[in-house]
Amino acid sequence: MIVITNVSHHQSNFTDHRLKMIEPRQIIEESDSELSINWSDETETKYVASVLRRMCPCAGCVNEWTGEKILKTENVAEDLSFASISIVGRYALNFHFSDGHDTGIYSFQYLKNLAEKN
Ligand SMILES: [Zn+2]
Repeated sequence: MIVITNVSHHQSNFTDHRLKMIEPRQIIEESDSELSINWSDETETKYVASVLRRMCPCAGCVNEWTGEKILKTENVAEDLSFASISIVGRYALNFHFSDGHDTGIYSFQYLKNLAEKN
């Protein structure tokens, strides 16, 4: 199922090139727990719900001040799935996970970096 297509609309008032970040062209829900993103730089990255859940950057999972991880990764089920996925502005995705957690805002840059680290 294709969740979002043609995310980027290059509006004429969007002229600050420092803000021109990498953007998804297509965000595809491959299954309940797998997501693919086709990026504006022609790359494609894949994500698994449980991995994204463990990397949740929200204040409940990571200490905002120290960057220390609060979330216990062993508490995240392997079979976790996406309840829903929504886009936040033009810069991030918000995942609603099947465990009810939905406070993480994953910027496109964060998602791209995650994939490149793996
Ligand atoms: Zn979180």
